[in-house]
Amino acid sequence: MGEFDLIRQYFAQATAGVTPKAGDIHLGIGDDCALLSVPAGQKLAVSTDMLIAGKHFFDDVDPAALGHKALAVNLSDLAAMGATPMAFTLAIATPSIDQNFIAGITRGLANLATRANCPLVGGDTTCGPLSLSITVMGLIPDGQAHLRSGAQLFDDVWVSGHLGAAAFAVSQRYAGQALAAEHPARIALDWPQPRLELGLLLRSVASAAIDLSDGLIGDLGHIATASQVGISIDLDTLPIANCLYPLPIETRLGLALGGGDDYELAFCANSSQRALIQQLSTRLKLPLTRIGSVIPHERGIHLQSATIDSQVIKRLTRLRSFDHFADRPSHDSF
Ligand code: ADP
Ligand code: MG
Repeated sequence: MGEFDLIRQYFAQATAGVTPKAGDIHLGIGDDCALLSVPAGQKLAVSTDMLIAGKHFFDDVDPAALGHKALAVNLSDLAAMGATPMAFTLAIATPSIDQNFIAGITRGLANLATRANCPLVGGDTTCGPLSLSITVMGLIPDGQAHLRSGAQLFDDVWVSGHLGAAAFAVSQRYAGQALAAEHPARIALDWPQPRLELGLLLRSVASAAIDLSDGLIGDLGHIATASQVGISIDLDTLPIANCLYPLPIETRLGLALGGGDDYELAFCANSSQRALIQQLSTRLKLPLTRIGSVIPHERGIHLQSATIDSQVIKRLTRLRSFDHFADRPSHDSF
């Protein structure tokens, strides 16, 4: 089987029948370019994320989970902006054509793409060390995107879901105690759920939003920097994942604040929106927790707690977000 058979048999079929809820695909896979139309009054939101073997996933990855996650992390960026998914492209390098593996990746991609109404419209296929790079495109009505720079003084700061589970699964793997695929922390790591519905419902509610890929402190730090404000976080309110409760408090907080891969949304909103946000939470069956506020004095992130020792808070404050160029282990160290 060669490159073109691979495209024909797997990628061209993957999302046949999926049409976007917004915008229009004139031409998908098969020509030199795909052709998409953006309706008047809307902006095209575009984002790319890549997953590299040994860096972003372990060698023994379930291919369906890999396909799912490659698309999920991209859709999560659309969710953060408040965009409706429209289409995506896939650039894939694989060292050989293992049909079971490719079929698994395609299945993971296609299931999520179908749920998100986001067809695969093109890409590139090449031989090389295993990696997947996806570019997603979505639509947002003019003026409604949640920019990182939009936070207003005294806004509430909210986060969706629970934090820290995915980072716990990674840390257990590094400690030589890999968790079973069914463990809730593994499910969080391998099958992140992009918060697309929440992103859309927040369009007229949030002043700023970001998806949590690199850890809460670092990611909220991006909002603080872009909006030129401070953000205080009340540690006693953090929605820490249930599966972390056997761990000591400092470890739990460290994972929730500094661990990556949560793909939840953090957002700022005026305090007049509290009741509405609680209603959204009920409607979506997704916890939305108020964890802090936007403050005028000092820029950056400030941790507070009525119960936690000040030395612990000092240490937690030093957590930085995940940086691929910093001296941290990558997934191929094992
Ligand atoms: P070109 O050489 O003109 O760039 P290719 O031969 O690489 O085109 O690809 C042929 C068609 O298949 C194009 O429409 C391209 O977008 C699509 N394609 C290639 N690889 C993939 C992939 N991994 N997923 C989806 N579409 C793909
Ligand atoms: Mg061409």
